[in-house]
Amino acid sequence: FKNLNELSKFYKKKRSERITSLEKSGFLKNDWKESLENNLHLSEEIADSMIENQIGTYQLPYGLALNFLIDGEDFAVPMATEEPSVIAAASSAAKLFREYGGFQTAVTERMMIGQAIITNVPDPEKAIALLEENEIDIIQKANQAHPSIVKRGGGAESIRIREIEADQEYQTPHFLIVHLQIETLEAMGANIINTMMEAILPFLEELTKGKALMGILSNYATECLATASCRIPCEALKKGSLSGEDVRDLIVLASKAATIDPYRAVTHNKGIMNGVDAVVLASGNDWRAMEAGAHAYASRSGQYRALSSWQAASNGDLVGELTLPLPVGTVGGSISFHPGAKMTHHLLDNPDAEKLESIIVAVGLAQNFSAIRALVTEGIQKGHMSLHARSLAISAGAQGDEIEKTSQLLKESKHMNLAQANDLLNEIRK
Ligand code: NDP
Repeated sequence: FKNLNELSKFYKKKRSERITSLEKSGFLKNDWKESLENNLHLSEEIADSMIENQIGTYQLPYGLALNFLIDGEDFAVPMATEEPSVIAAASSAAKLFREYGGFQTAVTERMMIGQAIITNVPDPEKAIALLEENEIDIIQKANQAHPSIVKRGGGAESIRIREIEADQEYQTPHFLIVHLQIETLEAMGANIINTMMEAILPFLEELTKGKALMGILSNYATECLATASCRIPCEALKKGSLSGEDVRDLIVLASKAATIDPYRAVTHNKGIMNGVDAVVLASGNDWRAMEAGAHAYASRSGQYRALSSWQAASNGDLVGELTLPLPVGTVGGSISFHPGAKMTHHLLDNPDAEKLESIIVAVGLAQNFSAIRALVTEGIQKGHMSLHARSLAISAGAQGDEIEKTSQLLKESKHMNLAQANDLLNEIRK
């Protein structure tokens, strides 16, 4: 049971008060409190074992996006981000949508893809026939290379063969590409997949009489998709002098612009990834992998387009939907020992990988809604700049009370930039 009342006016509290109310709300169990109080300290020993040539730890703020109702369950979603307004925007969208059922999600079977790229195949037709005939052997060899995942109930399941013809313009040769579909269960599976792919290369060379160029996972995880949808009546969208219908229609139009114009689509999708990356990073997952996969997925029609869509339903409601490839894991990498990642999994009640996908895609959709709504109504700068004022004040050297005073004066002044922040800070200090 989660007592959400404990989290009201969270943004107004001091950090120590937030930790206490998080504990009272039921999201933070007592024995985890100390780790938060210690700022999720990453020890020298762990940091040094994570990367090469380690000389320090680079910190990011870690906060909570509140009010999320996802498939009927309440979540306070941890985010690691340096960008002001991301958490406020996600929380405010989540608050609005929770009154109308929150977010509904669906995830596909989590099937990861490994690929072997083979060149110089003398007779591609014969090679393909032989590969198909030997599918079971290929799968067996892959599974023998990583038997523990098979024991857990996963492993390689099937193959798919792709051919890419030689291309004069790009001066590329003929490529025969063998995909292995692999179930990696709770892991993202990069190491499992790479081990399997490298292990089957000699056998693939033997069958195709070609030369294997490489064997590695594909981050284009088209068979590990997560979809979030949400719905809201027009009346709830009213803003200032704009009616709910007006706002809905503007959001739908903005969605269409991002569908058709790649220059807009990239920024639209960046807004989605503001939320997605922050949760992916907080959960100890590989955000470069999610970024790469998401943008490739946005180009699946042959043109780069919006990842989400917003439409008017027949009864007039605004309906949003977002689908992303999300091959995240709840084990593997640094998830089990990085204090921030551990905290995130704890605060989310140790979701399995499918549920983590659901949470992340719902956050992406919420983030997207807030950005578009702001853009087509009051503009994005109003909210951004008021939060940006604090960053400017800090950049100018403001400390303690000076931060609030300087940022307040900045908000009231005609120009909001570092020079202005410096001037205001000097005034305050006189
Ligand atoms: P790991 O290899 O660290 O962890 C996966 C292992 O966890 C499994 O092999 C399994 O080992 C164990 N495990 C325990 N419980 C489960 C369970 N329920 N389901 C599945 N596995 C379980 O991680 P990944 O293979 O997921 O690789 C992720 C890392 O690889 C990330 O750090 C990523 O940055 C990195 N990476 C990414 C690349 C890319 O995206 N292109 C390329 C290379 C690396 P066992 O069964 O033996 O106990």
